[in-house]
This record gives sequence, structure tokens and C-alpha cells, in this order.
Amino acid sequence: MSELKKIADSFGRVHDYLRISLTDRCNLRCTYCMPAEGIVLREKSEFMTSEEIIEIASTFVEMGVKKIRLTGGEPLIKKDIVNILTRLSQLPIELTLTTNAVLVDKYIDTFKNIGIKSLNVSLDSLKPERMNAISRRVYFDRIMANINLLIDSEMDIKLNVVLMKGINDDEILDFIEYTKVNKVDVRFIEFMPFSGNGWDRSKMVSLQEIINVANEQFMSIQKLEEKANSTARNYRVNGYAGTFGVISTVTNPFCDSCNRIRLTADGKLKNCLFSADESDLLTQLRTGKDIIPVIQSAVASKKEKLAGMDSFETEQGKEIFSRNRSMISIGG
Ligand code: SAM
Ligand code: SF4
Repeated sequence: MSELKKIADSFGRVHDYLRISLTDRCNLRCTYCMPAEGIVLREKSEFMTSEEIIEIASTFVEMGVKKIRLTGGEPLIKKDIVNILTRLSQLPIELTLTTNAVLVDKYIDTFKNIGIKSLNVSLDSLKPERMNAISRRVYFDRIMANINLLIDSEMDIKLNVVLMKGINDDEILDFIEYTKVNKVDVRFIEFMPFSGNGWDRSKMVSLQEIINVANEQFMSIQKLEEKANSTARNYRVNGYAGTFGVISTVTNPFCDSCNRIRLTADGKLKNCLFSADESDLLTQLRTGKDIIPVIQSAVASKKEKLAGMDSFETEQGKEIFSRNRSMISIGG
């Protein structure tokens, strides 16, 4: 890769991990992600076609991207998903997905055939009625059956749990206990603010609160070594098959080592999860122009921390996150 094409920002962070949202539609309606009133649906023509996704992804790979995560909405509802996965798997990258697992049984053979080794799966409760209430759909049994299918297939599975006060924070120990026999990495995620999700700090469960609950119950928790660019602090209860961790974006963000960039389903580049400013790669591509300079200048302007917010609670912070998209159309 030529130095000229490298995706670096003014703080020396090199970006080699791209998340591509394939659609902002979903078969679930999680309360913390999808606003109750829904989102404005875009025309089909505003979304990247499969060919455009492959072309843009290939340019990013030429610029040094080594890992691509497909997300959504729900990536597995994309009609052309098998073709997209197969074509992306031919690039020299680690390819992975974040999914709610509702459709995993339909695609597990494809995952195996093209060499996908890890998946992130969202699961906010181990209690059927609660999970169905949070996701506003009735898929708990199917989700659990598919998680078991993934565990049996020996893929690396991260289970993402967004903790919210009074909703599912009484399940911290149940989820840790779930790792006793299930070889999965549970990752508690601090509830983050996005447009339309009614965020308020009092609804969030912090890294410290989670660790306090775990320490009170378990005598022997081992802190695991942090991997480069990891967003989670990880732990294992001695003797347990799986691990647990916390993604503490609100109380302890990982901006210093951030290597992530995001492409929305309508072809806009976001240099930060919280950035309300975006760069339009799709129009550039459709008008026959080079997307490389747009990518470089978008990343060069990346702010040092949290898209320039001083806090999520000041007027300045609120102004930025309320201009940002809903999580469902960013993809996480
Ligand atoms: N539909 C897929 C899924 O649910 O895994 C992929 C898209 S979803 C937007 C990606 C991740 O973002 C999920 O793990 C979800 O739990 C997380 N997420 C969504 N809204 C969030 C919020 N407000 N705070 C923290 N995590 C959030
Ligand atoms: Fe859909 Fe995932 Fe958002 Fe839930 S978290 S509404 S499954 S995109």
C-alpha cells in the first residue's frame, strides 16, 4: 500500500477497520436503537447497490483496510447478502458481521463456506418475554436456537448486551453465569445516546457499576490482556468457558486507539460513530469521481475524541448527538 493512500488522521491514528451498513431496515425494533416513531425510509435508489458496495470496499482495502464488519439495520435481511459476502470474502481481509441472529440458520452454511470465523450477536436478555419486549418483536426462541447453532459450529461469538437501568441490569450475573459452560464472550455495552433513543445518563449502567456487581459475586475474576484497538475491557471468572467484558464508550471511551471508520447504507462515510458530519462517497462514485481524496480528507478532519463533544450532557454535546443519525442507520 502506498503511503499516499493511507487512511490516517491528524492525531496519527491509522484506520484499517471499516464497518459497512448494508441496510437501515431491521426485523427487530430494539428500543435503544430504533426510535419508537420509526425512521424516515429512504428511496431504494439512495442505497448502495451490491456492485457499489464491492467497489467502495475494494478501494478501502487498497488504502489499507484489513477488517470489514457488515452491519445494518440487520445485515442478513439484505436480499443479495450471499453474493455480497462471497465477493467480499475474496478480498484480503478479515470479514465478519454483527447480527441479531434471527436469520442465522439460513446463512450458517454460507458463513462456513466462505471462511467467516467470528460473529457479533445482540442479545439483551436471557428472559424470553423481556427480550421480546426490548426488541418489540417475538423472536426469542429463534434467536437462542441460532446462538446455540453458532456455539456448536465453534465460531468465535461475542454476545452484545446493551444494559439499561430498570430494564435488564438485574441480569448482569445471569449473563456472566451463562459463560460458565458457553464459550462466548459476553460484552456489556454502556447505553449510548443517538438521535431519537431517549438517552439519559440515569438510564445507563456504567463500567464501574458492572464490575462492582461482578466482584461482589465472584471471588476469582481474572482481568484479561487487552488486544490492540480493542473497545472492551475483558474478564474471565476462573474456570469458566467464556469471558465477559464491558464496552464503556460513555464513561471511558477508547478514542486514543480508534482505528474504525463507518460507511452507511446510503454511501456516506462517518469518521466517528458520533459524528453528525458525513462525506458522500456514493455521489462521488456515481459521478465518476475518485473517492480516495474524499476518504482522506474525511478522516483527516476526525476529532480527537467523541466527534468533538466535550460531554454527552452539555448543550454542545447534545447538539452534536441529536444531529447524528439513529443507531439503526449507522450500524454500531
Ligand atoms: N442488527 C444487528 C444487531 O443488532 O446486532 C446489527 C446492527 S446494531 C445497530 C449493532 C449493535 O449496536 C448492536 O449490538 C446493538 O446492541 C448496538 N446498539 C444499538 N443501539 C445502541 C445504543 N444506543 N447504545 C449502545 N449500543 C447500541
Ligand atoms: Fe435491529 Fe440491531 Fe437495532 Fe435491534 S439493535 S433494532 S436488531 S439494528
